[in-house]
Amino acid sequence: MPPVFDANLCTGCGTCEDTCPLDVIYMDEQNGRSFAKYPEECWHCGSCRQECPVEAIQIRFPLRVMVPAGVVPY
Ligand code: SF4
Ligand code: SF4
Repeated sequence: MPPVFDANLCTGCGTCEDTCPLDVIYMDEQNGRSFAKYPEECWHCGSCRQECPVEAIQIRFPLRVMVPAGVVPY
């Protein structure tokens, strides 16, 4: 599952777009906010979330990632 962006927090700085190693994230030219253009390509590395200066990104980890890592999804 792709990252989730809080449009109310996002300043449109573009850091997440520059950070993503897989070019998942692009800037919406209409509203100046980031979005996951290729969500199926996301590896859930968390780099975008870590680098966002206003904590506008959350990562939704799929079960196939959480369970092998020993994370209980509740
Ligand atoms: S790094 Fe954060 S504030 Fe900057 S464009 Fe991405 S989501 Fe928006
Ligand atoms: S979690 Fe990693 S791969 Fe997924 S969008 Fe963010 S930086 Fe890109």
